[in-house]
Amino acid sequence: MKNDTICAIATGATNAGISIIRISGEDAFTVADRIFVAKKTGKKLADRKTHTLTYGNIVSDNEIVDEVLVSVMRAPNSYTAENVAEINCHGGYAVTKKILELCIKAGARLAEPGEFTKRAFLNGRMDLSQAEAVIDLINASNEDAVKNSVAQLSGKLRNKVVALREKILKDTAYIEAALDDPEHMDLTGFTDELSVHVNEEMSEIKDLLSGFENGRLIQNGIRTVILGKPNAGKSTLLNALTGTHRAIVTDIPGTTRDILEEIIVIDGITLNIVDTAGIHDTEDVVEKIGVEKAVDEIENADLCLFVADASRALDDDDRNIIRLLDGKKAVVLLNKSDLSPVLTSDDLKKACNREVISISAKDETGIDIFVEEIKKLFGFGKLGKKEDFYISKLRHKELLENALLSLKEVLKSIDLGMSEDFFSIDLMNAYTSLGSIIGEEIGDDLADKIFKEFCMGK
Ligand code: GDP
Repeated sequence: MKNDTICAIATGATNAGISIIRISGEDAFTVADRIFVAKKTGKKLADRKTHTLTYGNIVSDNEIVDEVLVSVMRAPNSYTAENVAEINCHGGYAVTKKILELCIKAGARLAEPGEFTKRAFLNGRMDLSQAEAVIDLINASNEDAVKNSVAQLSGKLRNKVVALREKILKDTAYIEAALDDPEHMDLTGFTDELSVHVNEEMSEIKDLLSGFENGRLIQNGIRTVILGKPNAGKSTLLNALTGTHRAIVTDIPGTTRDILEEIIVIDGITLNIVDTAGIHDTEDVVEKIGVEKAVDEIENADLCLFVADASRALDDDDRNIIRLLDGKKAVVLLNKSDLSPVLTSDDLKKACNREVISISAKDETGIDIFVEEIKKLFGFGKLGKKEDFYISKLRHKELLENALLSLKEVLKSIDLGMSEDFFSIDLMNAYTSLGSIIGEEIGDDLADKIFKEFCMGK
């Protein structure tokens, strides 16, 4: 199965100028030659040099289906490290689909989601952390997410993990060798050296782990709730944020949730905004469901945006919300600053013990300031300057935590004066956990699961 030839549409599903149908596998050129006729020369793709483009027609039953360019990339110099032909056809959905069907008739199999990248991984073109970075790059919704994925795609995480594993292996090998050959190798005093090494390795792992929260928020977006009593201006604010001049907006298509959620990219950060019902005392049962949900949302949120109304005095509704913000990352906005204030910035600041930013959602003023505040709150803007990359995958985080635990066990064993074979067991556990990050120690099930996250054609 591994060597059969697969095909899929590699570009998006909407009508566009160009679409690409990718064919990969030993018979990629033979398959393409069955449906392609080169203009003028009539040359077969199978005879073309690697990394060339050939102009011609896709033909079915002696009829021209489309005029295309086909690129030929020979193994191992292709994305999958296999023979790859890419048909660049016109980007209409119907014509693209037709050519895909012809590829299948000509002997290729429809690829599963992520199968091209899986082959790249299995053929050693990239490790698992790089393959995962491909998914992240495709899904990246802001510039930092792009930067972070590209850094990992270029092997920055892999290099760190490989270096850590080498160090661990060196110590393990030394212990094993000394245990095998006690006459010639002495382990006296080695534990001092080992604990220095283990401490260094642990601090590198802790550094990687400390970036996770940032990485997750950059990659997945900051889950944000907008809170405020009715008529404070929450919807107006949301509209201001989603105004086309400052944001790209995508509705998350209908799920079971009845709370509106929108993804907003604003000045390089992604906010996943959950627009809740206003939190206020109410007898209305339906509204109450909304309120309870809102309380839940606050629990799950990364960020709360509290919208207070400058044209009305602070009341119990506001105070209830302020209480809920306790311990949460929050930005307090005093809206309707275009009106003469009943509630002043100073009073609000005193009531909630946080900085207050005056805005007018209606006039769209103050919004840039609070976006900057959000960046500050989450420490954004360090990527590519202070930090090379942040880990962003839960899988990586858990494996690093496992490695850290195993290394802690090594230190414990040293402290307790245990025999050396105990060290090597835990060292090898750390080595294995780190190996799973780059795909050295993973089973087929896990590889399948990871690659299923991909879109078709990748
Ligand atoms: P929500 O119930 O919190 O979603 O409040 P809305 O966004 O529906 O706003 C309630 C009312 O306040 C509407 O009439 C808005 O036009 C008005 N409003 C919202 N923001 C501002 C603002 O910044 N200045 C002024 N003057 N009016 C605003």
